[in-house]
Amino acid sequence: MTTARGLVVVAEDDPAVTSLLRLYLTRDGFGVDTYGDGAAALQAVLTRRPVALVLDVGLPGLDGIEVCRRLRASGDRTPVLFVTARDDEVDRVLGLELGADDYVTKPFSPRELVARVHAVLRRTAPADDDRLVLGGVEVDVAGRRVWADGAEVHLTALEFDLLAYLMRRPGRVLQREELLASVWGYGSAAGTRTVDVHVAQVRAKLGPGAPIRTVRGVGYAADVSAR
Ligand code: CA
Repeated sequence: MTTARGLVVVAEDDPAVTSLLRLYLTRDGFGVDTYGDGAAALQAVLTRRPVALVLDVGLPGLDGIEVCRRLRASGDRTPVLFVTARDDEVDRVLGLELGADDYVTKPFSPRELVARVHAVLRRTAPADDDRLVLGGVEVDVAGRRVWADGAEVHLTALEFDLLAYLMRRPGRVLQREELLASVWGYGSAAGTRTVDVHVAQVRAKLGPGAPIRTVRGVGYAADVSAR
């Protein structure tokens, strides 16, 4: 499940801690996926691209430190908030220069953990708008990749430019003529009907969560309200 603030993956094998974290993170607007072992959590981060990973050090199979090591080795930069149970785990987390973004030590208050997640996200937020998120749709502008509800969607170059242009201006009503001029270019011989065709193709690929609203008689706006 992905909600307004994005998906957080929780890797934790203690069901009581897991359900508390799910409750507090969900209440705060995050989508939450939980995994009780390290290998499943590692796979989830690589495929579902969460905004953050809450990672218990003491996990069965791959422990949390190994999960983080493999993530970083693969080039993944998902912010990691470690959960440690003992001082020696803290030492391992801090000593190995794993690229951990923060840690909490058990027992911790769920409220504190959620606050730490927010702090990590603020610190690690890209300085530019390379990553656009609206509803369940995420756009990596630099990498020209798109995900809808966590699954990658393949758009043509033009479809991608159109979606990114709309998503950079959430809530703003954009006339077909403006979209043509900005996305297709001023020299384009395309008519305004071309815009409708491409919007329909983008919507079809993104599915029911496509964050593009038709404004009758005018054009389109990027937002998460119904079409
Ligand atoms: Ca554990």
